[in-house]
Amino acid sequence: MSGADAADVLDVLVVGSGPTGLTLAGELALAGVRVAVLDRLDTPNEHSKALGLQPRTVEVLAMRGLLDRVLERSLTQVPDAHFAGLPAVMTYQGWGSRHPYGVIIPQDRVEGIMERALLEDHGIAVRRSHELVDLEQDDEGVTAVVSTPDGQRRMRARYLVGCDGGRSAVRKRLGVAFPGTRTNFAGVVADVTLLRSPEAVTARPRSIRDLLGSDTAQQNGMTWPLVPLQNGLFRVVWGIYGQPDGDQSEEGAAVTEEEVRASVRMRYGDTVEIDEVRWLSRFTDSAYQAERYRVGRVLLAGDAAHVHLPAAGQGLNLGVQDAVNLGWKLAAEVNGWAPEGLLDSYHAERHPVGERVVENTRAQAVLTNPAEEYDGLRSIFVQLLGMPEVNRFLAGMVSGLDIRYPLGSGSACPLLGARMPDLDLELPEGPGRVGDLLRAGRGLLLLGTGGARLAEQALPWKDRVDVVAARELPDCPVDAALVRPDGYVCWTDAGDDVPLTDALGTWFGRP
Ligand SMILES: Cc1cc2nc3c(=O)[nH]c(=O)nc-3n(C[C@H](O)[C@H](O)[C@H](O)COP(=O)(O)OP(=O)(O)OC[C@H]3O[C@@H](n4cnc5c(N)ncnc54)[C@H](O)[C@@H]3O)c2cc1C
Repeated sequence: MSGADAADVLDVLVVGSGPTGLTLAGELALAGVRVAVLDRLDTPNEHSKALGLQPRTVEVLAMRGLLDRVLERSLTQVPDAHFAGLPAVMTYQGWGSRHPYGVIIPQDRVEGIMERALLEDHGIAVRRSHELVDLEQDDEGVTAVVSTPDGQRRMRARYLVGCDGGRSAVRKRLGVAFPGTRTNFAGVVADVTLLRSPEAVTARPRSIRDLLGSDTAQQNGMTWPLVPLQNGLFRVVWGIYGQPDGDQSEEGAAVTEEEVRASVRMRYGDTVEIDEVRWLSRFTDSAYQAERYRVGRVLLAGDAAHVHLPAAGQGLNLGVQDAVNLGWKLAAEVNGWAPEGLLDSYHAERHPVGERVVENTRAQAVLTNPAEEYDGLRSIFVQLLGMPEVNRFLAGMVSGLDIRYPLGSGSACPLLGARMPDLDLELPEGPGRVGDLLRAGRGLLLLGTGGARLAEQALPWKDRVDVVAARELPDCPVDAALVRPDGYVCWTDAGDDVPLTDALGTWFGRP
């Protein structure tokens, strides 16, 4: 095996232990796949980075039994959302979610919960100080060259997934093109402690408006309100348009503490005084997407596959959902029952979703630009957001609740390709919920009384698809739904002529 350490012959090597890599490893482990997670850092991330979880991610965390732990450690929950920080907020109501709210929680806490769950539930510890420096693949697997404190090692796996962030070494080694755009916006994010602050700064945010303020634009720069995090820390976010090329707007150029202090002065004057700057980083409106999410036995997910302005808080969410889409498909491949084309459906389904997020963040970058020439555009968008249908449309877009994969043959059934709602069910053993039935990461054939006759047809797939009969499927336009392990409906008994056994074969392989 190309000189690989025999102890390291794995099914899947996940490179990167951010939210994408940790989610993917959890999904794979749930399906019994032998997986290892590498990270070049010697300690877990301790920085707040993404502060918000969108409702679709909240639904996914609930489905896998992690939500209670996340809510326990969250700063707050907000019932509304924003598009480009405009003063007309959006509501998540109208998408039939049990969780129509955003969760405000620093990224390091989310990662901590995921990493602990991976260790406690599956016995998998992240291998830290392990940096992928090279890789090669052949017909049977992938060999990764990994730099470790004990020197370079070769690790061998049947598949490798690059969840290694925006500057992905995996993507670069594959030579996958990463086209996109960037303008002259430069942002700074920092975690600070304060010596002096007015009460308004320390109050717990109750709505998205508290997080955004109402007067964000100041000349050609803006500072968002300070957000209280934890242990006396506050989050500063500051952005400026019109930086000439080549100066500090360059990604990677060092941010100075003085920049952070100046940005806070710009918003608060002398009423707030920073004590210590604990962490600071630059971000831009770089909007790039990998042309291919799969090259042979190597795949890309999360920021490794797409980067964009963190507008409306979508990046972490997009990565977690890439991982949930990919996990069961890759596991099916490893476990030997994947039907033809299943693994390629990862790119086919997730690339358009990523493209749409890149597109909406580009639109938000324009709307956030405080230059006077965009005032008209902002005014029109505020009026549009006042229209319930537009408000619902944009909330569905940024929350991930509106994702509908193009499955089936143009059926009129609104559930096909969409996420299965977390219905309350009356089951033979008592009350239950759809989300709980999906916890184990298996397929689910959910039947109401009218669909009960179909149960027998799914028996040959019983090693990978659970059949559950409920008294009825309340508020649901169908009597039978086949749900994939990622929670998306891939067949219903309404409006599509495909026989159930064909759909089972398409998604769950030969019995
Ligand atoms: C200011 C700001 C605010 C944001 N706000 C939000 C928000 O509210 N909501 C939201 O959804 N998103 C937000 N984001 C985006 C979010 O932080 C990212 O999208 C998210 O971190 C991507 O997760 P990931 O796991 O794909 O990559 P990362 O979190 O970047 O993780 C990649 C991991 O790979 C490791 N790694 C890298 N190279 C190697 C290598 N060669 N070998 C081994 N390991 C390697 C790294 O050490 C790292 O641990 C924000 C981002 C910023 C900058």
